[in-house]
Amino acid sequence: MSATHPRHGTSRDETADWQRGLREQFPLITAHPELAYLDSAATSQKPRAVLDAVQTYLTTSNANAGRGTYPWANRTTELVERTRQRVKEFLRDPDPRRSTVHFTSGTTDGLRSVARDWLAAYLTDGDEILVPFADHRANLDPWLEVRHLLADRGVEVRVRALPYQTASGDYDHRALDGVVGPRTRFVAVTHVHHVYGGDMNVHRVRAAVGPDVPICLDAAQSVGHLPVSVADPALDVDFVVFSGHKALALPGTGAVWARNARGPVFRPGGWQGTPNTVGVASLEAALDWLDAVGTDRVARWTGALTARLTEGLRRLAPYEVLGCQASLGAESGVPAAQRRHGIVTFRHRDIPSDDLGFILFSHGFMVRADSLCQAGATEQDGSVRVSLHVYNTVEEIDRLLSVLASLH
Ligand code: PLP
Repeated sequence: MSATHPRHGTSRDETADWQRGLREQFPLITAHPELAYLDSAATSQKPRAVLDAVQTYLTTSNANAGRGTYPWANRTTELVERTRQRVKEFLRDPDPRRSTVHFTSGTTDGLRSVARDWLAAYLTDGDEILVPFADHRANLDPWLEVRHLLADRGVEVRVRALPYQTASGDYDHRALDGVVGPRTRFVAVTHVHHVYGGDMNVHRVRAAVGPDVPICLDAAQSVGHLPVSVADPALDVDFVVFSGHKALALPGTGAVWARNARGPVFRPGGWQGTPNTVGVASLEAALDWLDAVGTDRVARWTGALTARLTEGLRRLAPYEVLGCQASLGAESGVPAAQRRHGIVTFRHRDIPSDDLGFILFSHGFMVRADSLCQAGATEQDGSVRVSLHVYNTVEEIDRLLSVLASLH
């Protein structure tokens, strides 16, 4: 008899079968059993259901959206509108009549759209905004650009850094009170950090700024990887910005979800042009696939692999795992390794990170090895990042650990 898995009541064998069945649905993964794709934080692989949806769309209805009046065009318009609703449903939007979904090419484009099309019109002279200086630069540059744009118009806005603890890889909620003031009008945060993999505890930021300040969430590393529910009181945010391509949809896809409650309604400006209809078809299929599989199960699987890798690395003396999450672990009672969501970043004491990346690829592991687009990072800050999705296996992690162990 097989042991029962303590965390979700299914046996280890059942979980392994479940995962094997899912992995088999990723054609590029199964075509290369000699390789291990460990770079899903950059972009995800695509299941057959997504590829099929794209093929079906292009071979049955391809047309422009919102323009023609013939059946292909109508079907395309319906697809785009249906997928807007699908995004709301996927994010468990409790009030879909009072929210907006705007399609983008990814998180960078989405954050820039919130900055340019909403924030720039919302701020007034003397306002302050709080933004993360140690997260992905996609979540810093657009806010700095708004400051410049407004300065050119004679509107002075102060940009303050969200306090950050490098050791834990989390926002420093104790220092947050010190930077929040009566003119704080907007906060940009990240849901899961793209280097440290930790959940950034957005509820603490909400508690510090109070109920009225709009919060924009960079959910690039959470949507598609774990349940993201805007109905959850712990995720009381006004914008959720994500990349469809990191959530199993095609490259060039993403979305902004905006709650039309605090401040003026988000309306992307200017002529929108032709939408990425093929990308939208892929996004609808990806969200259907993820909901059918269950993002909670995806998160448990990648969480278990992440914990295995983190614990394994800790036993190997030459390696340092970045963002230890110790303080978070201690507070929440959850072991530090289990707080990571599918991302583990590390360094070797003596081997430069880009060399380590090459060595790992010579053994078939595709990882990210550089400064990881972190705002403020320099070349010396290079590291190796392993990032996972549901198609990765225990065997891949164990094989990686044994190669890492052989490098002294
Ligand atoms: N934000 C975070 C946290 C990310 O990890 C990334 C990509 O790695 C981005 C933003 C940018 O996403 P995109 O390349 O889809 O614009």
